[in-house]
Order: sequence, then structure tokens, then C-alpha cells
Amino acid sequence: MQPVRRLLAKTVVRPTLAPDPGMGDFAGRGRVTDVFIALGANLGDAAQTLRDAVAAVGRLPHTRVVKTSSLYRTAPVDSSGPDYLNAVLQMETALPAPVLLQALQEIEAAAGRERPYRNAPRTLDLDILLYGSGQIDSPHLQVPHPRMAQRAFVLEPLAEIAPERVSPAQREAVAGQRIERLESILLS
Ligand code: ATP
Ligand code: CA
Ligand code: CA
Repeated sequence: MQPVRRLLAKTVVRPTLAPDPGMGDFAGRGRVTDVFIALGANLGDAAQTLRDAVAAVGRLPHTRVVKTSSLYRTAPVDSSGPDYLNAVLQMETALPAPVLLQALQEIEAAAGRERPYRNAPRTLDLDILLYGSGQIDSPHLQVPHPRMAQRAFVLEPLAEIAPERVSPAQREAVAGQRIERLESILLS
């Protein structure tokens, strides 16, 4: 055998992410992971865009939306423009994290997301907060989301649907940020 072919024959292809011990089977389609996504928007009809985004996430292959938080109105943080609407959803998916990120970016693009400059106002932002207990540190994807602990607009809706994921000290640390839970406006 030629050297290159011998090398290839020996190459073991490993999944980019080791199976999470917390994963189970999903509709007979392999292992699934419990994932939390942050949603945000401050341009256009933000509430409708976030509802459409939840529906679009639910239509992804091998994916099921488990829970959604209330909608929250929040002041822009390190950003400008009108107030944001934010929420967090919990899903189960068999999609690997990089594939999920790409799918979320396609949903953002379909909602007209543009990136003229960092932290610009946006029609839709979808961030992966937690991917099972996975820790990912690649150039295009870091999980847990590296800035989530600094943001009331992430921690409050996350605490609403998964209180065990947010400590009282974490919530206390962002208590000065303006955030209002909108009980009268439904997300889904
Ligand atoms: P921030 O990440 O501070 O919330 P942002 O959401 O405004 O800022 P974007 O312009 O939406 O930033 O995304 C910039 C890049 O961040 C994306 O192209 C993506 O590759 C990368 N990224 C890294 N980690 C994540 C993650 N956990 N979820 C979503 N995108 C991520
Ligand atoms: Ca973001
Ligand atoms: Ca983002």
C-alpha cells in the first residue's frame, strides 16, 4: 500500500463532540442533546419574528422544542436602537452543534438579519447558550455562550424555564439591568 493510503486506512473518524452522558434516543434517530437557545430582536415586528423563529426551530430535522420562556422587554446592552424582545427556548436535537449553528444562522438570514457592525440592532439573533454539558471552543462556536453570565436578558428567561441552570448569585450579578417580563404577549 502507498504511504498516504496506509495512513488513511488507519485514520479513525471521531465525532467532533463526544456523546453527552445526558443524551437519550430521539425518535429512533440516534442520540439527542438538551439544548438552550437565546432569541433576541429589536427591529421590525420583534414578537412575530421570535414566534416564527420558534416555529422554524421546531421544524429542523431531528429536533423538538421542549419549552419556551415568556417574552421579555430589555434595554440594549452594549448595543443601540429600540428596546429588545428576548426569550430562551429549550429543545432536544440530534443535530451536531456546528450543524445546529448553521441552521440557526439560516433562520436568522431568512428573517433579514444583517451584520453592518458589532452589536448592531437586529431583526433576529439566535445564540446557542448550552449544548448538553458540552464545552466547545472553536473559532466559530463557543459553548456555553461566553457572555451569557453577564446578561439579564439571557439569565432571567433561562431561569424561568430551567431554574436549576442559574444560581441566585448569577441573577444578583445582573440585577441592575433593565428587564420586564411581558406576561400578556405570548411567544408560542
Ligand atoms: P454575542 O455573541 O456577544 O451575543 P452577537 O450575537 O451579536 O454577539 P453575531 O454577529 O450574531 O454576534 O455572531 C457572531 C459569530 O458568533 C457567529 O458568526 C458565530 O460563528 C459566533 N458564535 C460563537 N459562539 C456562538 C454561539 N454559542 N451561538 C451563536 N453564535 C456563536
Ligand atoms: Ca447574541
Ligand atoms: Ca448571535
